[in-house]
Amino acid sequence: MKTVELIVPCYNEGKMINLFYSTTTDIVSKINGYIFSFIFVDDGSKDDTLPKIRELAKNNRNVKYISFSRNFGKEAAMYAGLKASTADAVAVIDADLQHPPELIETMLKAVFEEGYDSCSARRVSRKGEPKLRSMFSRLFYKIINKMSEVEIIDGAVDFRMMKREMVNAVCNLSEKQRFSKGIFCWVGFNTKWIEFKNVERIAGQSKWSFWSLFKYAVDGIVAFTTAPLKIINLIGIFVSGLSFLYLLVEFIKKLILGKAVLAGYTSLIMVMLFIGGIIITSLGIIGEYLAKMYIEVKNRPVFITRETNIKDMSDK
Ligand code: UDP
Ligand code: MG
Repeated sequence: MKTVELIVPCYNEGKMINLFYSTTTDIVSKINGYIFSFIFVDDGSKDDTLPKIRELAKNNRNVKYISFSRNFGKEAAMYAGLKASTADAVAVIDADLQHPPELIETMLKAVFEEGYDSCSARRVSRKGEPKLRSMFSRLFYKIINKMSEVEIIDGAVDFRMMKREMVNAVCNLSEKQRFSKGIFCWVGFNTKWIEFKNVERIAGQSKWSFWSLFKYAVDGIVAFTTAPLKIINLIGIFVSGLSFLYLLVEFIKKLILGKAVLAGYTSLIMVMLFIGGIIITSLGIIGEYLAKMYIEVKNRPVFITRETNIKDMSDK
């Protein structure tokens, strides 16, 4: 029988753990031919998430868990789970039941019967999400897909079933600042996309603020394309060309027509502000890449484990 592991990143999900486990177990126990187990990753929760997970692990042999020393973020939690996994197929799924566990059966079919390497879910409606947020997230997908070679699917969520080979490939990308949506595309393999309607949270709260989503978007762009650097280079060349032309025009005016340059305070200030703005923005963009390099070079671990019931986790 094939083994399947479900990786569940949890941050302050105390209210959801038991509900998630019982709901998901009910659903997967009806699927024949597979052995399911869970890897809960407690991402430094401040509520009773860890005691709840410990309790589950005590009562159920198919529950493994890793608990971080602090909050390292969902990306780190997914990475830790994938690294710890050993099953033939591994799925990442949210603890808040916003990723319908009913889809697991379809995903398994895609992976083990239809010949795909992975199967991933895509939200088709953004019901229950603030309008402004939907607008910006659409804009983000447009920008990143124009700029980078990897195609990041609009509405793709981190709910994905992967075969062992693909999990190994994802874990082999050793970058510290992980942007999974990009990484899953970058490693290649065949992915089947299945659609589902947005489900609203039953309990607890979304951990994303508008600002954290914005930072996530910038991280994604910086991680997967150097196009912004090329764009500022082009702007530089364009502005230099323009100013050279202007210089020629003024030169000819002075030499042939003998006209001296007169008043021009307003236009001078405007040009200075314009160029100044471009320079500062360019430095900011270079700074983003530099900051990312700085963090990568420090080579710190993606997460630190404080407690786990997985034996060989220490050498991962
Ligand atoms: N999560 C996590 N670490 C974090 C933030 C979130 O492990 O720092 C988990 C969270 O517990 C949940 C999943 O990631 O299982 C998705 O988070 P959330 O529901 O807040 O995101 P949304 O569904 O609003 O995109
Ligand atoms: Mg959620």
